[in-house]
Amino acid sequence: MTGLKGKVALITGASRGIGEATAQALAKEGVSVMLAARSHGACETIAATLRADGHQAEAVACDVADFQNVTAAVNRTVARFGHLHILINNAGIIDPIGSLSETDPDSWANCITIDLVGAYHAIRASLGHMTAAGGGVIVNVSSGAAHRPLEGWSAYCAAKAGLAMLTRSVALELGEAGIRVYGFGPGTVDTDMQGAIRASGINPISQMKREDHASPAVPAQAIAWLCSDAAADLAGQELSIRDEDLRRRVGLPI
Ligand code: NAP
Repeated sequence: MTGLKGKVALITGASRGIGEATAQALAKEGVSVMLAARSHGACETIAATLRADGHQAEAVACDVADFQNVTAAVNRTVARFGHLHILINNAGIIDPIGSLSETDPDSWANCITIDLVGAYHAIRASLGHMTAAGGGVIVNVSSGAAHRPLEGWSAYCAAKAGLAMLTRSVALELGEAGIRVYGFGPGTVDTDMQGAIRASGINPISQMKREDHASPAVPAQAIAWLCSDAAADLAGQELSIRDEDLRRRVGLPI
């Protein structure tokens, strides 16, 4: 993929699932990757495996809910690799799952804090470094839930809808500064999050079989492609892995 080799990326929520696979996909394209999540040990294990395979990878403990924490992770990335060109806002939670009338207010607010405010924190902490590097790419990992309500997911849907608007705001304010931003819906993916959704039994997504979900490597390939020069004409858009034109360009089966 053109324009990726030698770049530096920070991936939030990289301790497992889509974030882990994205770190692996970017590293294999020659990107130096900083894996961030609350579970430092899991990130470090993944980073160590990448290093053993000859890639540039480090791990940092980071709770995206805490701006100082996120700022420290961004600064650590720049201190270790010299720059920051790519930010993957992937960290997310689905809880609380349940009817609006029964959800715990603190838990509801926590979902907004992690899934929406967390992405803002990382963008806010990264922009100065990206503009200093002459530009950058931000991928906000979105969801179909950003665009349609799903029963029992009011906090998650509201957070992802807010994230989609944040994507548009970044495009409006920073497009001319050389920051390319994308919202990206990964489809349904076989991760721990889908396991929790299945266990809830609450809406049609929870009824899907595990084997109907994609492997995390599939959206990871698309996210890495979005970070390449080939995706420049799509900057500012909210995209979905279900889009056939996008799949064709990424090289995924239709
Ligand atoms: P996952 O397997 O549950 O992984 C979530 C990741 O987010 C973990 O690495 C977790 O690490 C991290 N995380 C959670 N809270 C965090 C916090 N406060 N600070 C830092 N990291 C945090 O879920 P996934 O399916 O890979 O989801 C990744 C992204 O894709 C999410 O944004 C999700 O909404 C989105 N998505 C997933 C699907 C799907 O079908 N799986 C569909 C649409 C969108 P720690 O717990 O170690 O912090």
